[in-house]
Amino acid sequence: MAERKILHVDLDAFFASVEQLDDPSFKGKPIIVGSSSKRGVVATCSYEARKYGVHSAMSGLIAKKLCPNGIFVKPRMDRYVEISKEVFRILHEVTEHIERVSIDEAYLDVTYSDRSPCIIASWINASVKKRIGITISVGISYNKFLAKLASDWNKPDGIFEILPNDVPNILKPLNITKVHGLGKKTAVRLNSIGIFTISDLLQCDRQTLSYFLGKLRSDEIYNRIRGIDNRPLNLKTSRKSYGRETTFEEDIRSKPIIKEVLLQYLFELAFKLVKTNKSAKTVTIKIKFEDFSQITRSHSLLSYTNNLQILEEAMIHLVDNLTINKKIRLVGISLSNIVDHKNYQLSMFD
Ligand SMILES: [Mg+2]
Repeated sequence: MAERKILHVDLDAFFASVEQLDDPSFKGKPIIVGSSSKRGVVATCSYEARKYGVHSAMSGLIAKKLCPNGIFVKPRMDRYVEISKEVFRILHEVTEHIERVSIDEAYLDVTYSDRSPCIIASWINASVKKRIGITISVGISYNKFLAKLASDWNKPDGIFEILPNDVPNILKPLNITKVHGLGKKTAVRLNSIGIFTISDLLQCDRQTLSYFLGKLRSDEIYNRIRGIDNRPLNLKTSRKSYGRETTFEEDIRSKPIIKEVLLQYLFELAFKLVKTNKSAKTVTIKIKFEDFSQITRSHSLLSYTNNLQILEEAMIHLVDNLTINKKIRLVGISLSNIVDHKNYQLSMFD
C-alpha cells in the first residue's frame, strides 16, 4: 500500500479573521468574538487578543479581565458559514476526499493526486488568501495525527510538512497534551508519575499505558506516539450525538456535584454544536452505580437548540427527577437528534 498523503487545513482564528476582513478598522486589534456577559463564551479571538491569554471556550468575563481593551464582537454565524463554504469550494477543487471536521477545519487525502502535497498546500494557502482574504494553515504528513500536528506548527498562515524520518525528533520533546486523544485529566495523572513529554511516554510499556488510558485507548496512543495512525478519513459529515462522561475516583451520591460535572460537559458540548454549526433536540444523562447497574434518562426539547441555558434546564430537570439510593461511579451526558443549524440563532453567546 502506498504511503498516504494527508493534509490538515485549519483556518486561523476563523471568526475573528472574518470580522477583521469585513471591518478593516479591526485589523491589528484584539478582537474577541463572543460576549463578555456572565454566561458569555469566547468563540474565537484574534491573535492580538491571544497575546493576553484569551482563548476559545473561555468565559467572556475572564477574557474581559485579561484583555480590557479587547473589542467584543457578536458572532455572525451566517457570514462565517458563507465564508466557510467558499473555502470548502476551494478545497473541493483539489480533491473529493475531504473529511470536514468543523466549520474551519478539514482533512484532505491527496495520495493519488498528480501534484505533490507541498504544491497543493501552497496552492490552497495562496488561493484562500487571494480569493477570500483570510489565512489558512496547512499541515502535511502521512496520517491524520501528524498532519494535524503539522498544521499547528507554523500557525498562523503556515505550511509545515512532517516527513517519516523527522517523526522521532519532532515528537519526542513535545508535551503529552499534544497527543490527540490524550485528555487533560490523564495528562495530569501521568505528570504525577513524572511523565511530561512524549519521550517520557515512549518509555512506558503497554501495561502501564493501559493502566492510565484503558485498554482501547492505550493501543491507539501507543501507536500514535510512534507516528502510527491508520484512522481513515471520515467522509461523512453528520454525527449522531455529542457526548462526554466521567468515572469518579470516589463514589458519590450528591446531586449538586452531579449537576456541576454535567454542566461543565454540557458547556463543552454546546460549544461544539456552535462550532460545527449544529443544533440538538435531545439531552440524555447516564448514571452508573457502584454495583454497575446503569440508568439513562432523556428529555427531548420542543425545538432544536444550541442554547446553553435551555440545555442546562433540561439536564437539571433530568437530575432532579432521579432517585439516587446507591453510590454513583460514573455520570455522562450526551446531546442527540443533531441537525444543521439553518435558521441560526446565536443564543449561546447572547
Ligand atoms: Mg481554526
